Amino acid sequence: MGLKIYLNGKLIDKKDARISIFDHGLLYGDGVFEGIRSYNRLVFKLNEHIDRLYESAHTIMLTIPISKIEMIDAIVRTLKANNLNDAYIRAVVTRGEGDLGLDPRRCHSPTIFIITDEIKLYPKELYENGLEIITVPTQRNSPEAVSPRVKSLNYLNNILAKIEAINSGVEEAVMLNAQGYVAECTGDNIFLIKGGRLRTPPPYAGILKGITRDCVIGLAKDNKIPVAEEMITRHDLFNADESFLTGTAAEIIPVIKIDGRVIGNGKPGKITLQLRKGFSNITKKDGIRY
Ligand code: PMP
Repeated sequence: MGLKIYLNGKLIDKKDARISIFDHGLLYGDGVFEGIRSYNRLVFKLNEHIDRLYESAHTIMLTIPISKIEMIDAIVRTLKANNLNDAYIRAVVTRGEGDLGLDPRRCHSPTIFIITDEIKLYPKELYENGLEIITVPTQRNSPEAVSPRVKSLNYLNNILAKIEAINSGVEEAVMLNAQGYVAECTGDNIFLIKGGRLRTPPPYAGILKGITRDCVIGLAKDNKIPVAEEMITRHDLFNADESFLTGTAAEIIPVIKIDGRVIGNGKPGKITLQLRKGFSNITKKDGIRY
């Protein structure tokens, strides 16, 4: 039995899951999406992801034609149909099929699809030894142009930064904002720890307000670790005791070198590992069961 895909209300075989080449999601990146995860049949932070999806859609004036409850039901149906215990879930809403012009009024019906698949994890060594990253020249999108809070189908900004990282032989890149402050990585948020204090850029630095990020901030507070959402410079990063990235796919991944500067003692830090453990416990018990 092949993978089943949810497409506009129906579960269909992957090979039959097709959308129009006139879909504005494809022609213009006009659409929004979420990357979600399930752990042992518990969908992690599903309500938070659904809220962010609908907020992204609202900002780009895309009316999702099904309710949040129907969207949750569609995700659960897709997971059940594929009998996946641990899954990566991609929920996508595009402007739909239109003509070759930009005008979204020509798109009469948004396209909704949901893919649930096996989760592809980062290599274990990266979690054990930590990641080396670099700052790249491509700035994060200015919030005055397109808000990074909108998780849109147009990821070219991040892809360019990712290419620059790969060209330099590393897997992730730190992107700065137009003021030169640290924003985030291409698919992850960034944190540092200095003197026992956890610091991460605020949403107004021009970042995607990551759901893993928010979860880690909550976890730190529960563990009486002081947290500050404040502007961070590269100097702050270089001189941190610890650093890590957060994201739905990456979870919490330690960073041990940035732009050639060793972070702390060059090994995943104590607080990073404490937070990783706490996070792993939450994923085991929180979530919507299917
Ligand atoms: N920033 C960007 C640009 C991302 O694409 C992602 C992954 N969706 C994140 C941060 C992390 O967000 P989350 O924890 O919600 O997956």
